[in-house]
Amino acid sequence: MALSQQRVKEIHKLVIPTPFMVGPVNLYLIEGDALTLIDAGPKTDEARESLIQQLKELGIQPSDIDQVILTHHHMDHVGLLDYLREVSSFKLLGHPRNQSWISQDKAFYDHHEQFFMGLYRSLGVPEKYLDAIPRLKQQIFRYSCSTSLDLELREGDTVPGLPGWRVIETPGHARSHISLYRETDGLMIGGDHIIGHISSNALTEPPDPNMGDVERPLSLLMYRESLKRCQTFEISKVLAGHGEEVTGVHDLIETRLQKQMERAQLMKSWIESESMTCFDICCRLFPKVYQQQLALTMSETLGHLDLLVDMGEARIEEKDGVYYYHGAK
Ligand SMILES: [Zn+2]
Repeated sequence: MALSQQRVKEIHKLVIPTPFMVGPVNLYLIEGDALTLIDAGPKTDEARESLIQQLKELGIQPSDIDQVILTHHHMDHVGLLDYLREVSSFKLLGHPRNQSWISQDKAFYDHHEQFFMGLYRSLGVPEKYLDAIPRLKQQIFRYSCSTSLDLELREGDTVPGLPGWRVIETPGHARSHISLYRETDGLMIGGDHIIGHISSNALTEPPDPNMGDVERPLSLLMYRESLKRCQTFEISKVLAGHGEEVTGVHDLIETRLQKQMERAQLMKSWIESESMTCFDICCRLFPKVYQQQLALTMSETLGHLDLLVDMGEARIEEKDGVYYYHGAK
């Protein structure tokens, strides 16, 4: 449906509650040639009611939505797709790497669990903490969705129904992550790639056999590359997946890159005096939260170890199936 000229280009921010530590998630409703919703919130009653109410205040029914574009596959961004599928015949667009996650593909999630069990053991996580892995899977199944993409978006694609916007692949926080960029005014819809008030985690993910992967993706290295790529665009403002819109993006990216390097150097100073497992380092970095937030804190630690190894500043020795990190010298 073509909307009247004055409504074109309007972007509405919808703030949707989540049960997660990150707090509310931002969806964006764009009145382009197609009425487009960016991301969909978690699968909870509160989130659904909040979405319906905020749409209503704009004079919009959920069934009016022509398309939903996913920035990435995380449960706080996709769960309400199941509800929207019931009430609307929208098209779902996103990077093909969303598919294994959003379809609750059993083989993929079995592989996911096996992968993390093996990885965590090799990183020195004690057996008593490994039940965090099936719990995470249960959480994803509860708050995420079970659906499929209708159209795949990749690097450089124009966005159907949104003239002037194009797709930039920004993997790292999630490997499925894309951002949308409008060259005319430098506006970016950034999902969780760039958030103002918190640094985005580069989460550890399993290789996706459905995408032909064999090796574990090095999430933090990917994330840093995606940040550096964004430095090559004129970005006036980022509409982020959480919190306020972000200005001063180029300075913020410099700060983020610098903080990562500082954290890596701190870890390097530790492993230069004694060999440590990733779990040992995780406990020292996050003594208060590692038990409750094992996946997040281990991702953060492993990512920075990957960075040190990549820079030739750390090396790994395996002993009885466990990796020990040492300084390079
Ligand atoms: Zn996310």
